[in-house]
Amino acid sequence: MSAFKERCPKYIKCGAKTYKIKVDSALLSASPETFGMFLSDKMLIIIRDTLPFEEAREVLMHEIIHMLHFNMGHADASGEFDGEVNVSLLSFMFDSLLDSNPGLLRLYT
Ligand SMILES: [Zn+2]
Repeated sequence: MSAFKERCPKYIKCGAKTYKIKVDSALLSASPETFGMFLSDKMLIIIRDTLPFEEAREVLMHEIIHMLHFNMGHADASGEFDGEVNVSLLSFMFDSLLDSNPGLLRLYT
């Protein structure tokens, strides 16, 4: 089992909803370029299990941004809001912010 799969939470709450997180490549499409997916109808986020830890963490943040957009009512069922590029930029910024400022997370634990 990868270190990411071991440490990744199994669920994520978003308002009143709880989404399941699965780190399992078998659930993704065959395309090796698909690193993760947000499936609103299945209440599920999937992350490829062969990614290096930090890449998997960034992909998870990417899918979380899709989830947030969907739950804000600003996105279609795939969580698409204002373009994949903006989702990628925002997820990269959040991942970097949390990575550089671990003290921020301590405010929530
Ligand atoms: Zn995306």
